[in-house]
Amino acid sequence: MLNDFQTNCQNADALLKPFRNNTLPHFINGKADAGRSGKTFDSLTPVDNSLIGEIAAGNKDDINAACQAADAAFKDWRALPGKERKVLMHKVADGIVARARDIALVESYDSGQAIRFMAKAAIRGAANFRFFGDLAATARDGQSLPAEEHINYTVRQPIGPVGVITPWNTPFMLSTWKIAPALASGCTVVHKPAEWSPYTANMLAEIAHEAGLPGGVLNCVQGLGEDAGKTLAEHPAIKAIAFVGETTTGSHIMRQGADTLKRVHFELGGKNPVIVFDDANLERALDAVVFMIYSLNGERCTSSSRLLVQESIQEEFLAKLAERVANLKVGHPLDPTTEVGPLVHDRHFQKVCSYFDIALEDGATIAVGGKAAPIDGKGNYVQPTLFTGARNDMRIAQQEIFGPVLTAISFRDEAEAIEIANDIDYGLAGYVWTNDIGRGHRMAHAIDAGMIWVNSENNRHLPAPFGGMKSSGIGRDGGDHSFEFYMETKNICVAMGSHRVPQLGKG
Ligand code: NAD
Repeated sequence: MLNDFQTNCQNADALLKPFRNNTLPHFINGKADAGRSGKTFDSLTPVDNSLIGEIAAGNKDDINAACQAADAAFKDWRALPGKERKVLMHKVADGIVARARDIALVESYDSGQAIRFMAKAAIRGAANFRFFGDLAATARDGQSLPAEEHINYTVRQPIGPVGVITPWNTPFMLSTWKIAPALASGCTVVHKPAEWSPYTANMLAEIAHEAGLPGGVLNCVQGLGEDAGKTLAEHPAIKAIAFVGETTTGSHIMRQGADTLKRVHFELGGKNPVIVFDDANLERALDAVVFMIYSLNGERCTSSSRLLVQESIQEEFLAKLAERVANLKVGHPLDPTTEVGPLVHDRHFQKVCSYFDIALEDGATIAVGGKAAPIDGKGNYVQPTLFTGARNDMRIAQQEIFGPVLTAISFRDEAEAIEIANDIDYGLAGYVWTNDIGRGHRMAHAIDAGMIWVNSENNRHLPAPFGGMKSSGIGRDGGDHSFEFYMETKNICVAMGSHRVPQLGKG
């Protein structure tokens, strides 16, 4: 009898078998599309860096075909009553739920994220479709702004075909977070998923079309960022780009979209502080600190990668933390007991490992970990790592490492905590642990970040705004914020009587 881990491996193998000898195609205009370039790139599993399969490398012509399909489908999709879009989106959500286990298995093996997290991420993808689907009928609602002799009212209309460019960390969930509100708004979509995690994007496109989404409404073009991604950002048929990824890539996309005046929405990198005061519930704070950097392999934009701990409790807190970090279970992503899996790609693995030397060069201490940890000599596994004795000007405190690596810095008081928290280019999220309610609010107001959690780990509520300040992003997602991006607000002004119209040319 197989245990859960063996069953997961067997099921993942069966799901990936069709990809092993066939190139993963694009999905354009409602069907699989082999592409026009004949070129492919390799997709490897971080488990042992063996080949999963070949992926079609989308070029200009593929992006063109997908953009034309999205453009052609836009007229009918925007005209479909919101309540009918809602029905279709719930059918997509049903399809995701039915295949949630398959999505999680493929994504874990493809990206290295532990199955315990990916199983939930797939279900959250369905929740995103239901949440935004429910709002489809009211998304166009506007304001009534009466003036003295005129009535102004606003309506919202979908902006047009949009491009969605996504990264490789929790790729399925993140793509639904962008695609679902776009579809609910009445926009059509061309999705360019990350080259290091290509598989589940096709699964989403297939599920959506099996659910009845008309051809051309959701297209997926596989390919490299500097090729397929760049062409998408430059394409004249595409009215807006919703992008999740690195800060430097955001700058490229802004430049690439300039000639066609693209509207852009950026969710970028972070180096988020978690600030623990001596008056906090330290057991709960410890749980949250560990969870928010070592879950999802630390490959998470909202990870709390800088721990700011008050001097008075530093020794005790760091000792307990070190014990927990050393105890984390690193292993195969499909093993349900695994807490930290392998990093997505050898290039990223090398980047994360480079910070072990950088930490020592800059004068910090490696309290736990600090080494690669291959299993049977293979795979992009690293030891969960804790750096202590760090200063905020060190590279390990300023740069986004994006791995299971935490940098601990001590602070004296509230003022110093704020100074350290804000002395950084990024401004995505911040976490504060204190039992002083006034201090919790003061800190929340003082930290320069788009999202602050007080006495909590990252807890998401779909109507709440999600996004960053400074180099962490432009714009907000969530609830109505998403519709603001994917829709144009139109003002309509109607005279209510016979007000005086200015008269020219009457002598
Ligand atoms: P990345 O920027 O390298 O790639 C993201 C996507 O952009 C990929 O699909 C890639 O192919 C594409 N791309 C690359 N160059 C491009 C170009 N010139 N033009 C158009 N597209 C291009 O990011 P990544 O390494 O895949 O993801 C990790 C990053 O994403 C981290 O910095 C992380 O913080 C960030 N992230 C942010 C959030 C958030 O909500 N703020 C969420 C998840 C990840």
